[in-house]
Amino acid sequence: MNRRSDPTFDYLIAGARIIDPESGLDKVGDIYVKGKKITRIETEKLISIRKKDRKIIDARGKICCPGLIDIHTHLREPGREDEETIYTGSLAAVAGGFTTILCMPNTQPPLDDQESINFIYEKAKTAKCKVYPIACITAGREGKQLTEMADLKNAGAVGISDDGDPVSDPRILRHALEYSKMVDLPVISHCEDLSLSKDGVMNEGFVSTVLGLRGIPSIAEETIVARDIRLAEFTGARLHIAHVSTSGSVELIREAKKRKLNVTSEATPHHLTLTDESIKSFDTNCKVNPPLRTRKDVDAVIKGLKDGTIDCIATDHAPHSEEEKDVEFDYAPFGMIGLETALGLVTTELVEKNHLSWLQTIARLTLNPARIFDLQQGKIKVGAPADLTVIDPELEWEVVPSGLKSKSKNTRRMETKGQSLDDHGGWKGSSHSENVKAFECEIDCIIFALIIYIKMN
Ligand SMILES: [Zn+2]
Ligand SMILES: [Zn+2]
Repeated sequence: MNRRSDPTFDYLIAGARIIDPESGLDKVGDIYVKGKKITRIETEKLISIRKKDRKIIDARGKICCPGLIDIHTHLREPGREDEETIYTGSLAAVAGGFTTILCMPNTQPPLDDQESINFIYEKAKTAKCKVYPIACITAGREGKQLTEMADLKNAGAVGISDDGDPVSDPRILRHALEYSKMVDLPVISHCEDLSLSKDGVMNEGFVSTVLGLRGIPSIAEETIVARDIRLAEFTGARLHIAHVSTSGSVELIREAKKRKLNVTSEATPHHLTLTDESIKSFDTNCKVNPPLRTRKDVDAVIKGLKDGTIDCIATDHAPHSEEEKDVEFDYAPFGMIGLETALGLVTTELVEKNHLSWLQTIARLTLNPARIFDLQQGKIKVGAPADLTVIDPELEWEVVPSGLKSKSKNTRRMETKGQSLDDHGGWKGSSHSENVKAFECEIDCIIFALIIYIKMN
């Protein structure tokens, strides 16, 4: 049959290594797309590729997986549109290979009522990827009065969190967990005891002592992880622990999972790859919350990700303006952007170094997040939407902040062994955008994401 007139597909992603964590498929094959759906997955009789055929996307040597999902993104709309909007955040997401993002509610005003959730969905109509809002646990994120979770769920909130802050009062959290169970929404916990972390700007330990900076001890996170796990057990609610950063937290979650509690967790690319040694350069982009920890912690978080204690990789993409970050370390806000660098970091530091296989990595970026938040995405199968990401695992790319799609450029500078980068060094190379082919205009959410290799000058 003449393929050009073949009515069975509009597009064909040909010859890719297809990785689907749900079925365990990891095989070279062809994916046929008609309309916005996958109509056929062929791993036996592969089509012969003719370059000039516009309907056929030559994906030989590439990985085709479910569209990546980031369950922890801070978009700054409403309130700080100078730092990120829903639209610019979606551009960054697509550039990084993410076809779905969940946005945190610590906007100004916060997402604590139906109207604010409606606002996100209205704005998301022009976004380049799917955007699902997470709503607040308490009104105004003040930790005092519960939000109307049933209304929020009806409006389309997929989870609840006061992220940026913990729910400090255990009585409030108990009621929040009980209510969330009734409406069947996961509670995402930012685990931080504010009295223990008070005034801290980095991990408390040897490096903070050397630098003379105030520390945030591991125990500030672990006491709340322990408390929240107990409360989740007591209430039977679904608890998701955000940005796990310490070996003690990993151990607590591992133990909770052993006891079959309804507890899941995530780790960020920066907590999986960087230590508090990065602060030696006083680079405010490395000031994050929870802080970058020690080598022992990073190794424990990687181990947790590997053995399933940690379910997902999530960016905690936190845009901040240059003016805000270009201050003394003590005064800079916490957070770094991550949507465009996550895949590259994970590939370079976890896959290439044999900590995780591609199948395991893709599961932690697609299927696992989808399961936690009851999303339909995260799988490649016939009849499912063609929500796909195509990754070139060989392509090297160097991060140039000015070339990033995110409205804020607060990415970290890389360090080589023991040597920090000077202020004028940094990133060089070609622009990200030149290398990314997004097909989402033609097919829903098919993205050519390219592996970003982060290199320092
Ligand atoms: Zn947080
Ligand atoms: Zn966050």
